[in-house]
Amino acid sequence: MGSINGFAAHAAGAELLPYKYSPGDLKAHEVEIQITHCGVCHSDIHLINNDWGFSEYPFIPGHEIVGSISAVGADVKSLTAGQRVGVGWQSGSCGWCEWCLQGKENLCAKSQGTCVHRNGGYANTVRVDARFVIPLPAKLDSENAAPLLCGGITVYNPLRTHGVNPSSRVGVVGIGGLGHLAIQFARAFGADVTAFSTSASKEAEALELGAHNFVNTRETKGLKALAGSFDFILSTTNADQDWSAYIIALRPTGTLCFVGAPQKPATLPIFPLISGQKSITGSPIGSPLLLREMLDVAVRHGVHAKTERFAMAKVNDAITRVKKNQVRYRAVLAN
Ligand code: NAP
Ligand code: ZN
Repeated sequence: MGSINGFAAHAAGAELLPYKYSPGDLKAHEVEIQITHCGVCHSDIHLINNDWGFSEYPFIPGHEIVGSISAVGADVKSLTAGQRVGVGWQSGSCGWCEWCLQGKENLCAKSQGTCVHRNGGYANTVRVDARFVIPLPAKLDSENAAPLLCGGITVYNPLRTHGVNPSSRVGVVGIGGLGHLAIQFARAFGADVTAFSTSASKEAEALELGAHNFVNTRETKGLKALAGSFDFILSTTNADQDWSAYIIALRPTGTLCFVGAPQKPATLPIFPLISGQKSITGSPIGSPLLLREMLDVAVRHGVHAKTERFAMAKVNDAITRVKKNQVRYRAVLAN
């Protein structure tokens, strides 16, 4: 094919501009996807801003991609032209290490991001290693499926891996793209769910999404009153919070898990970890196998991203709303 057209960041924090690149010949292990939808994850904003220090410009962000396959590499046997598929954060791994062989490609040291040092999904087309291209269940509509491919799997993986079940009391910190999906998956696992939010205006929707309780964390006494209450707290926020209050809010043997990454290193109280045998951990996206499972669970339990749709050319408007924490709850770009 000729060139691929998209919208690229050319400098840290700058508005995206139309951008064209030539992908060359389709590699034998790749497929080419005509993009219909792409979610705007906060990780795209971190990459555009170079918050993590490794962005290389220009690049096209976007890693919650849905579209249909338009070309199939010579060695790809599992996918066919015309098939509707999705791609999330990860688009490559070595395939041979201990972690890849276990089906935990998301832990591979050579993991490659879909829009890290390469061009992603704010475009008309993308090419991706077929191992990371996931067929979509027919019952999911494309706009709704896009946010599941990064946001959905990122919250599903730790809830599933840490054994959340009907006896669990779960807290979700930050009710944005990830957080609003975490409420729904935790509820699907049967847990009692509390939403922690800095936005009082999200209370009614958090309860509609399945939360049993809502705590406005701008009011400090709300969190303090919950000391010793939770088995599992999942933090999706990228802002600093009173982490010691969340550790104190855990029951003995409880776990505080970070999927959102605050900029500053945290100072944490150790004594409650010792006395309550509590754990602190983090979690990166999820494997291709778990992505398939997560999509199936989303269909069967009606987990549904609430989206705001923008035309691809309006990408800068979408980014502005994400930065201002105005989106309810995931912006999705559509071609
Ligand atoms: P998002 O849609 O922007 O939501 C983030 C939420 O954090 C906001 O809705 C808000 O919730 C809360 N928040 C924002 N600013 C805040 C502030 N100043 N103080 C307190 N709370 C604030 O972002 P997202 O797409 O869900 O991503 C969240 C984080 O997860 C990002 O850092 C992203 O890079 C990371 N992430 C990690 C992985 C992984 O594999 N671990 C994967 C994807 C994304 P309330 O209004 O409810 O307070
Ligand atoms: Zn993401």
